[in-house]
Amino acid sequence: MHYSKYTFHASLSGNGASSAGLVIGNYLTGSMDIMDKKESELFLHYQESGSWENYPGITDLLHRRYIFEHEQEERELINEKRQLFLTEYANTPVQIIFTPTYVCNMGCSYCYQADYENTSATLKKDVVDSFFDYINKTFAREKVKPYITLFGGEPLLGGNEYKTSLLYFLHKAKEFEYEIAMVTNGYELENYLPCFIENKFNIKEIQVTLDGIEEIHDKRRPMKTKAGSFDNVTRGINKALQNGFRINLRSIIDKDNMAELYKLAEYAQDRGWLNYPSARFQTTLGRNYELHFCQAGTPLYERSEMWKDFAGEAEKHPVLYKYHSPQFHGMHNLSRTGELPLPVFDGCPAGKKEWAFDFKGDIYGCTASVGVEKYRLGNFISGDRINEEQVNEWKTRDVFSIPECSQCAVSLSCGGGCGVLAANKTGKILSPDCRPVKDLIVTGLRYYNIQTKELSATGGNI
Ligand code: SF4
Ligand code: SF4
Repeated sequence: MHYSKYTFHASLSGNGASSAGLVIGNYLTGSMDIMDKKESELFLHYQESGSWENYPGITDLLHRRYIFEHEQEERELINEKRQLFLTEYANTPVQIIFTPTYVCNMGCSYCYQADYENTSATLKKDVVDSFFDYINKTFAREKVKPYITLFGGEPLLGGNEYKTSLLYFLHKAKEFEYEIAMVTNGYELENYLPCFIENKFNIKEIQVTLDGIEEIHDKRRPMKTKAGSFDNVTRGINKALQNGFRINLRSIIDKDNMAELYKLAEYAQDRGWLNYPSARFQTTLGRNYELHFCQAGTPLYERSEMWKDFAGEAEKHPVLYKYHSPQFHGMHNLSRTGELPLPVFDGCPAGKKEWAFDFKGDIYGCTASVGVEKYRLGNFISGDRINEEQVNEWKTRDVFSIPECSQCAVSLSCGGGCGVLAANKTGKILSPDCRPVKDLIVTGLRYYNIQTKELSATGGNI
């Protein structure tokens, strides 16, 4: 008998004790079940002994494929599910990130780009032409047409000269039939919308950040001039929604604004934003964390603590349930469909499904590395590909190539985490950025009120 390397369990009390029972799961087979206290104790006893002989629940464990008769069955299932993952991956469009400037009109308290060299806000025509030449050639053989995400700095800056150059870029994108997404602070959004509408640019999503209601947002995300930005940003969001654009409303969360998040949810509800279907309006909660520099003094969250606090806030202010539906490593899926999502063999798209470029011609693997010299991979203007070795590390990074992940039971939901965060910590791209998968499952079970003993439809029944 072979105990699957992907079978894991977590205490439902969240503190490691089995007194509240266990959740047992396996992202390879898609099984997840709850064991009560008595079942848990017996299960743990046998599991620790390493022998399942005479274990009364063995038929169930085999049926749900927490245990395989032979290791070969597990290997075959890994190959089969990996093939499915790769097929789906091949059909996922590449996201091409373009940073037209590192200049920003806001001075957010936590900006990780604050130290970037950002004197120029002019995007030259010949750079735009070279960029489109480069991506048209490089991504010509993709199965699905890539899309372009405008990033910054701030991609929607004011000022006629800059705006003209950005519009030139958008016209080129239209000419070559690329859909556009944008990550903007939203301050100038209202002013750009008429051009977007008039020129019929193909805009698939506008991501805008609001960190709370006016008082909170303006403290965390003021303009460089120290003026508030909330009014401009919310006017932009309203206008975009009214004109049929899709808004992804993001908040950057730390312990300073979590307790007030419900007020933003109420604000969104009052404006009617929460009535739009998910195809038109979505929310994202991003954790404020140290990416490239230290944020001493800011009360940052660890990942699992943040989501526990969010779940606690939602219990106090139910509008948050409507405002945001966290994934909790498949628990959202499980609550909606009764199934766990497909295994994730790679959670970091850098250098595979994501590439980033800037107005200087520099090439990077993704948004988190863009503008950081040690992650620069080449330049599309000079044509040099300076770091084939690093490109190869990004391309091969997955749960099998990172030694720690290849031994990890929850790897098929974690996916190995973020390569830049991992490399910033360890100096190696092929190293893990661990996610607290088990903690988040337990929080998610509670959040979505999933209580039944038999949780997932796949894998068989216990
Ligand atoms: S390195 Fe991190 S930010 Fe970049 S693509 Fe990978 S997961 Fe995303
Ligand atoms: S990054 Fe950590 S938690 Fe994630 S798969 Fe690798 S070892 Fe497991």
